[in-house]
Amino acid sequence: MFKRVLGTKDILPQEIVEWQKIEQLSRDTFKAYNYQEVRTPIIEDASLFNRSLGSSAEIVQRQMFLLKRERDLYALRPEGTAAIVRAYIENNLDKTSGMAKLYYIGPMFRAERPQKGRLRQFHHIGCEAIGSVNSDIDSEVISLANRLMQVFSVTDYHIKINSLGCQKDKEDFVDFLQRSLKSKVNKLCEECRVRLKHNPLRILDCKDDNCREIVKQLEIGDSCQCQECKEHFSKVKNNLDTLDVSYEVSPTLVRGLDYYTRTVFEITHKDLGSQDALGAGGRYDNLVKELGGPDMGAAGFAFGVERILLVQSQKPEVKSQELVYVIPLGEEARKNSLRLLNDLRQENIPSDTDYECKSLKGAMRKANDLGAKHVLIIGDDELGKGVVTLKDMVSGEQKEVSQEDIIKEIKC
Ligand code: AMP
Repeated sequence: MFKRVLGTKDILPQEIVEWQKIEQLSRDTFKAYNYQEVRTPIIEDASLFNRSLGSSAEIVQRQMFLLKRERDLYALRPEGTAAIVRAYIENNLDKTSGMAKLYYIGPMFRAERPQKGRLRQFHHIGCEAIGSVNSDIDSEVISLANRLMQVFSVTDYHIKINSLGCQKDKEDFVDFLQRSLKSKVNKLCEECRVRLKHNPLRILDCKDDNCREIVKQLEIGDSCQCQECKEHFSKVKNNLDTLDVSYEVSPTLVRGLDYYTRTVFEITHKDLGSQDALGAGGRYDNLVKELGGPDMGAAGFAFGVERILLVQSQKPEVKSQELVYVIPLGEEARKNSLRLLNDLRQENIPSDTDYECKSLKGAMRKANDLGAKHVLIIGDDELGKGVVTLKDMVSGEQKEVSQEDIIKEIKC
């Protein structure tokens, strides 16, 4: 027997209602903020991610699902931003629409060690606002993420924000970290010793107790940031206050990817345990240019759908089935029921029949199991009179209705 691949999930019909609800709520919310949907391929050139996320990013180093075909190397996309920016540049969206506000919903792939809330195929709901360096975009994106939490009925979430500064500030900050941590290198965990050389920012969010203690002693502030970046961050915070978005400034908040500059943010939830991030994002002002496009600022975020489903305080109401179940008794009635089913379906009335019908009793049991609202019985008797027996499965009432009137009767 075949089994699903490690770290993947089948989403079965009884769960799909929740997924569809989350997707619908997302679409409605993005529409309210004037974001448009975009769908990019699941496979991309592997080098797109190396170039944008940075070769020392954990995703690039260890987590990409790579596919080699002849001389080409593809990757199953591990995240959405790089692909959206690639599509933005390739399709000249900067020329056609100026500021592009795009959103996406779809699967992402990372070869991580699976655990609760950590899969190898998971789903992102995310957005990218490309074409502006204005701090109003940062606050719009964060308040949109906050709004999504509300519409998804997620409570007790926590928003952390920080500013990494521009590229130059980031380099100064990296330099500061390397200098400050040089003498403490032996006290860092094994991974952070490597990070100190290639990706020192990641030391700031290491979960190891010793590393945390060392980071705490560094008393990190915004001293490496230029005046412009400080003002930018101030405006973001003021806007969030105006919009009544609660947040905490966390000077050690960093993202694992190279492309982030200035504002970064993360939304966590205590019920998620060690993998506590529900979503994250921020500004990335150099990525569009880095990938061959114009010099344009941008910001965005992504949420993990599986984690949202884990922490929703309220699940969507599942409406009872409106199904009409047709039960033909005998060969002649079966032919008649084919036409009847067809008519119902053309009117978009969910309907089905018992393909294995052996007895009325068995078919009624099936109708019950399916939660059908109405049952239509056609036997020799009904055929002779040109009627159908209509049974209301909720009240138990039963009556004969002429064949011509049956759709009208069911609709009312
Ligand atoms: P990231 O691109 O790593 O910032 O991810 C954004 C969000 O996607 C996270 O906050 C999680 O909610 C979700 N996510 C990331 N990786 C995984 C994973 N392996 N399994 C499930 N959800 C994930």
